[in-house]
Amino acid sequence: NMKGQGRNGVCLYDCQLQTQDILKLQLRDRLKKAIAEQMISVCYQPIIHTQTGQIVKFEALARWHDDIQGDISPAVFIPIAEKYGLINQLGMLVLHQACQDLKKIHALGYDSICFSINRSVKEFINSGQDECICDVIQQYELPNSSIVIEITETTASKESRYIHDVLARFKERGILVALDDFGTGYSSLGAIIDLRPDIIKIDRSFITEIESNIGSQTLVSLVLELSHKLGIKVVAEGVETKAQLELLMGMNCHYIQGFYVSRAKPIEACINMLMNESTLMTSDV
Ligand code: C2E
Ligand code: MG
Ligand code: MG
Ligand code: MG
Repeated sequence: NMKGQGRNGVCLYDCQLQTQDILKLQLRDRLKKAIAEQMISVCYQPIIHTQTGQIVKFEALARWHDDIQGDISPAVFIPIAEKYGLINQLGMLVLHQACQDLKKIHALGYDSICFSINRSVKEFINSGQDECICDVIQQYELPNSSIVIEITETTASKESRYIHDVLARFKERGILVALDDFGTGYSSLGAIIDLRPDIIKIDRSFITEIESNIGSQTLVSLVLELSHKLGIKVVAEGVETKAQLELLMGMNCHYIQGFYVSRAKPIEACINMLMNESTLMTSDV
């Protein structure tokens, strides 16, 4: 601890913290501006059905290019949006863009394709957000069944009681719910039984280690076994190699997502992917 050790009585430790806070506030202000000016874009990453090799869904992922700092990761700006009350507006921006883009895909005849949308639990704390989501989907005349809401499990478990109602309301309207980043939070297996999501997305960290770590492999196979019994679909996130894909297929994992198939791309590139689908599983993107 550097406290009190600075020259002229200035505290270095606190000054460092202060600099970080100022940078964060600057980033918040630029994010605020970017949201207001609709400078947040959306890219989409395909989710593949392992049995058929076909794209069934795309996950919508927010992208922010800042003029000063360049591309800023959602891992950085989503927490800032949550902390400073910008997450609802950001979420709505992404939803509108995604609905517009899904409309394009359906119009081309790929009308069984679904989009997955990420939602922070904070977006549901102001009640009515789930209704807003349904209203937007309706506004674009998309079937509710073409949208999946992905919620991170860490937060979902914390807000378990509350989130239970939100999930029920989505399900009532035929909107599917996925537990995202599964395995990274607490009460993993408990959350499956308690929340009964439609889909579970196993976190990338387990897939990365699936060959080398018996613990990770065991978790994946347990989640698959439990999910099969309960009629829940499973997506493996972050599949990067053919070996991982083959292991997962051997375990009867329904869906995979990861750089092995494709990174998240702009809508035009995704439409091209759909049009050239037969070559997807054999190419190393
Ligand atoms: P997530 O929902 O778990 O999304 C998957 C993340 O893993 C994405 O990162 C994706 O690019 C990355 N990924 C996918 N396959 C691979 C792979 O094979 N290898 C590696 N190394 N990474 C892979 P991204 O786009 O940086 O997003 C990070 C997180 O930010 C997301 O994690 C999600 O929690 C959050 N996020 C993104 N967009 C939104 C949004 O519109 N709203 C909210 N609330 N959160 C969002
Ligand atoms: Mg997600
Ligand atoms: Mg995830
Ligand atoms: Mg993640």
